[in-house]
Amino acid sequence: MQGFRYLDDTAILRLSVDKCIGCGNCRLVCPHRIFRLQDGKAEIVDRNACMECGACAKNCPTTAIYVNPDDGCGCAAYIINSWVARIRGKAPSGCGC
Ligand code: SF4
Ligand code: SF4
Repeated sequence: MQGFRYLDDTAILRLSVDKCIGCGNCRLVCPHRIFRLQDGKAEIVDRNACMECGACAKNCPTTAIYVNPDDGCGCAAYIINSWVARIRGKAPSGCGC
């Protein structure tokens, strides 16, 4: 999702392609379109847009995805504040945590 992104290189999202059966659930549930299917397997196409909500991991039938909001920063406030700041033409001010 353009203009609604997380800190670069901080997402803990991991995908085990070996375990993937290509069901497409991750692509369906991800609000930021992080995944696509390529040759019957999921692929991460935009890791830095992941906000660590955990929906993909929760809906993967083979535990091919690992992401735990409790392990990472998981701070949706940062994303929302950055987005609002950009709309207002100001510099992002962090999350306030
Ligand atoms: S944790 Fe949420 S935002 Fe990140 S890839 Fe999974 S569904 Fe998408
Ligand atoms: S939900 Fe899991 S098994 Fe299904 S496509 Fe995504 S990674 Fe593969």
